[in-house]
Amino acid sequence: MTALVEPAVALSLAAVLGLLVGSFLNVVIHRLPKMMERGWSAQCAELAGREVPPGPRYDLVVPRSSCPACGHRIRAIENVPVVSWLALKGKCSACGAPISARYPIVELAGGLAAVAAIATFGPPAKGIAACVLLWALIALAFIDADTQLLPDDLTQPLLWAGLGVNLSGVFVPLASAVIGAMAGYAVLWSVYWLFKLVRGKEGMGYGDFKLLAALGAWLGWPMLPQIVLLSSVLGALGGIAMIALKGRDRAVPIPFGPWLAAAGAIALFFGPAINAMYLR
Ligand SMILES: [Zn+2]
Repeated sequence: MTALVEPAVALSLAAVLGLLVGSFLNVVIHRLPKMMERGWSAQCAELAGREVPPGPRYDLVVPRSSCPACGHRIRAIENVPVVSWLALKGKCSACGAPISARYPIVELAGGLAAVAAIATFGPPAKGIAACVLLWALIALAFIDADTQLLPDDLTQPLLWAGLGVNLSGVFVPLASAVIGAMAGYAVLWSVYWLFKLVRGKEGMGYGDFKLLAALGAWLGWPMLPQIVLLSSVLGALGGIAMIALKGRDRAVPIPFGPWLAAAGAIALFFGPAINAMYLR
């Protein structure tokens, strides 16, 4: 396939598709936590034996996107990734309420991730698989930053997808992927309990174990030490920066997921080189 598709064509396609996926990631980041919350309250009500009338449908497709300030329906022309936000100067066309710069940033991240993946791994299976991994990491990083949650609905399929992709050794041999998934979970699980025993409080959540397990499944167990090390360093620096800049309370837990996701993305592209350097 590489020979059939001009690299420039493949990269342009990746950019366009990546921007569109980025636009969808905004929806996932915004709605998935709300969907989970609704699910939980419905379950609680059911356990308590209360009747809950089914509310209006709310999922990744329905309702259509609208301005949170005035309810103006976002038209297709206002939904072109990055371009629309720039054309509208970051404001709702109906009421002028500001639209967060995060929307074009996530779209841009989706596009850049796809271009980097295809440029590095080529358009067939490996490049496309790398796109999927990176898009999932973007969604997880933003959801965790917003809500301190890493939804099972994302981390679990991501883990299985990693094992599936490596059935034919796309990134690493299957054995390395399976050990990576198990060790990824076990390492953070142990840190969690150690922290809990020593400090008497929780330093991270189960979502973090599942995300590291997923990264182990995709990238293999030899990548785990550098992912843990890098995410810890990034997390510590990020935490210090947030306390210094925003005066954030030390006691408020800092989400670890975004740093895990960042370290995973770095390991995807540079992991083998980093490991080779370290071993030398
Ligand atoms: Zn509006």
